[in-house]
Amino acid sequence: MTAIACEYADRRARQCRTAWCPQHRVIVEGHLYCRRHAGVVSALPVADSTLVTPLPDLDNRAPSLVAWVARQLDGDVWRLLLHELDTEGGELIADPVVLVFTGVDRLRAWERAWKLVTHTGVSRRVSLMVEEAHDDELAVKVGANVVGRLSPPWITERRGSEPVDPDTDRREREAFNQRVLDAVERGLLRERELQLASRLRMGDSAEGAA
Ligand SMILES: [Zn+2]
Ligand SMILES: [Zn+2]
Repeated sequence: MTAIACEYADRRARQCRTAWCPQHRVIVEGHLYCRRHAGVVSALPVADSTLVTPLPDLDNRAPSLVAWVARQLDGDVWRLLLHELDTEGGELIADPVVLVFTGVDRLRAWERAWKLVTHTGVSRRVSLMVEEAHDDELAVKVGANVVGRLSPPWITERRGSEPVDPDTDRREREAFNQRVLDAVERGLLRERELQLASRLRMGDSAEGAA
């Protein structure tokens, strides 16, 4: 099998000297890395190109809210997805903020997604979504399932009259981010359990057929 070099180079242009076969490399946004450097690049802040138009209503904060929270949590979501890799490599793909239509009513919403695909058939999709009609609420999705709905504290507070001091504000934002990540982690665990269960079932039926 052909080994291809990890593309990582540090700021002094020193190149990573490892090379990887298709089974063990990790691809992040179209670039090939060793596992270690996949973790490094995916923890870097994302470029602003993640916010892609079609334009929302001028006064709707749904796309900016989802883009803002996604930027805050980008490295952490990658870290959780990389954790889903076993000893094999795989591919991490980030989807920009896009307009989607959700639910039976096809409501307008803005979504930003992260995906992991491996050779061994692991496939995970994590996304954050804000509906235009409920632009004070963030939906956390793993696969097709909504695993959490959370209201950002800085939006809830603007409705009340009490101003919040900077320390409280920071603590509340951190707690909010952690709740989002906890929901992602729970959702990923559930996906893992479902995948394991379906593999066991497939194993059973294969034996039955033999
Ligand atoms: Zn290998
Ligand atoms: Zn490397």
